[in-house]
Parts: sequence; structure tokens; C-alpha cells
Amino acid sequence: MVADYVGAKHAVATVNGTAALHVGLLVAGVQPNDEVLVPTLSFIAPANAVRYTGAWPVFMDADPIYWQMDAEKVKDFLEKECSWKEGLLYNKTTSRRVKAILPVHILGHPCDMDALLELARKFNLVVIEDATESLGARYKENRVGRLGDVGCLSFNGNKIITTGGGGMIVTDNEEWARRAKYLTTQAKDDEIENIHHEIGFNYRLTNLQAAMGCAQMEYLDEHVDAKRKIAQSYKNAFQNLSGFTSMSEAPWVFSTFWLYTVLINETEYGMNSRNLFMRFAESGIQTRPLWQPLHRSKVFEKSQSYKIEKADTFYRDALSLPSSVGLCESDLNLVSGVVKRCLAE
Ligand SMILES: *Cc1c(COP(=O)(O)O)cnc(C)c1O
Repeated sequence: MVADYVGAKHAVATVNGTAALHVGLLVAGVQPNDEVLVPTLSFIAPANAVRYTGAWPVFMDADPIYWQMDAEKVKDFLEKECSWKEGLLYNKTTSRRVKAILPVHILGHPCDMDALLELARKFNLVVIEDATESLGARYKENRVGRLGDVGCLSFNGNKIITTGGGGMIVTDNEEWARRAKYLTTQAKDDEIENIHHEIGFNYRLTNLQAAMGCAQMEYLDEHVDAKRKIAQSYKNAFQNLSGFTSMSEAPWVFSTFWLYTVLINETEYGMNSRNLFMRFAESGIQTRPLWQPLHRSKVFEKSQSYKIEKADTFYRDALSLPSSVGLCESDLNLVSGVVKRCLAE
């Protein structure tokens, strides 16, 4: 069902989205000591998955308008910081082979995939899409997850559809799909005799979760629709509010607005994102900052990052507002009421 939905030839279910990323990287040929370009403004799972393979993330900035992996800076990095040796691309600073780009479609909005795919072709890199936050979103005519060489999805409790926990690898590459199935099911070379030629993983989705996933798939479009309505409602409520910038949708994409997020300019709004976070909490409303940019994380202090400027300010200014599909108009009014009261003060 998922393969059909995203328009990919194959799909392999996994225990969660992080496992999908781990195995997605492995089947794409990422090896120990390779490098993978990862956006710094993301949940940590994709960068962790890179480390599980023994490869290293190189962190890229967020673009100034849509907050996604900045394709311009990726281009700069590949052109200026890398060189070819015997048909392979190497990072001049670390001497490691640059193998892949891992764009993460954050918050329901697709990355600029045409630009990234063109760079991948030019520099002979594979593209592993982290579409875990954005199932249902489209870039031009195609759904996220099938834009790169391999796509990864999550059905965690907080995603657009859920199996409690769960994930999926989607790809058009039959050999990679077969290998993903093999690696996620303990690498069985003979199921009867239990013969194994490789170290595999128990990364299966259970049948019980899969059954729930089938039922959830029936709601997917409805959920996307609900998220988009919530986004429209917030957008209307915050129009002309000084110091308050709502997330936007590029004209060439269809975003799911998975988590509706705003940027707060402290000088203009009179309060910063963390103060507003506290004010929401006092009103019994849960909001969330974005993730600490990954290049700031202690666990990645040995990883390179390239010209990061925007991600830090987005981290400082961003707040994700309640976006559950079950929210009704009065819930949304409660949220915008707090925002307007704080501004008035
Ligand atoms: C949720 C998420 C994941 C991981 O999914 P799990 O199913 O929780 O393992 C990976 N990447 C991003 C960007 C996510 O938001």
C-alpha cells in the first residue's frame, strides 16, 4: 500500500524509521569512514543512522526561506571542498570519501529535490531521503520518499499515520529492496537450516503493527487535509502579527504541515520563543522548540559542519504549535488567543 501510495516499485517494512534509515544507508552502499551530507536542522535520527554504519555526517545549513537543507550550500561544499580521485569524490579537509546526500524533509515540507538530485548526479552520490516527517507531501508531481534512490518513512506515534512504532524503506531498486528485506530479517540465507552469511538485524515490523498500518493508510489523505486546514487557520490568525513569521509553502510543493511552526522575532514581538513556550505551558498548551542543531550536539563534535548560519537562528526563534489532526476551531482559537494576548502585553 505504501509503495503504491508514494509511487515506488518496492517497500520494505521496518520496526521504526531509524532502522529504515540505517538499512537504507547500508543498501545504498554507505561504508565505514564514508561521509554523508546531513542537514543540521533535523531530529537526530538520520545522523545517528549514519554513525551506525560507521560513516560520518557532514552537517549542512538550512535554507533561509523554507528551513530545509540548503542546496546552494551543498553545491558550494561539493564544488569547493571536495576533489576527485580515481572516479571517487573526497572531502579535502577529512580525506574521507563523500558517498551520499541525506535530505530530511522537515516539518512536512519537501526539500529542493531537483537541485539536490542534480548535484547527486554530477558528483556521483546516492540520495537517501528521510521522509519520516512528511509522508503525503509532494515535490512537483511526485510524493516524497520516491524522489531519491531510497526513501525512509516512520509510523511513530507522533507522525502523520502511526502503527505505535514502525517504519518503511521505499525504492525502485529491486536489488536494494531484496537486500533491505534480507538485512532487516536477520540475514537468512537458508530459512529452514538457519544459515547466515552476514550479520543481519531484527528490524521487522510485526504483523499486528502492519494490520494497524493498513487501517491507518485509509486515513492518510484525511490527516493531510486536516493538517493543511490547521495551517490555514493559524496562518489567518497570525496575519499581520508583528514579529511572528509563519512557516511557508514553496509554490512547487504540497506540504503536509506536519508540525506548524513559527519564528518569533524577540524585538518585534516583545518576547522570545522560550518565553512564549512558558506562557503556553501556563495555559496548559504544549508547544515545542525545534531540535538543537546537530552540529552543536556533543555526540557530533568530531563531525565537520559547513558554513552554518541560519540553522542556529531558526533554533533560537522557532516554536512548533499544536498540530494534531483532532484539533477543532476552538482549540486553535485558544492557541492564537495566547499569541495575541502576549503581543498585546
Ligand atoms: C521521527 C523521525 C525519525 C525516526 O523515526 P522513528 O520511527 O521514531 O525511529 C527520523 N528522522 C526524522 C527527521 C524524524 O522526525
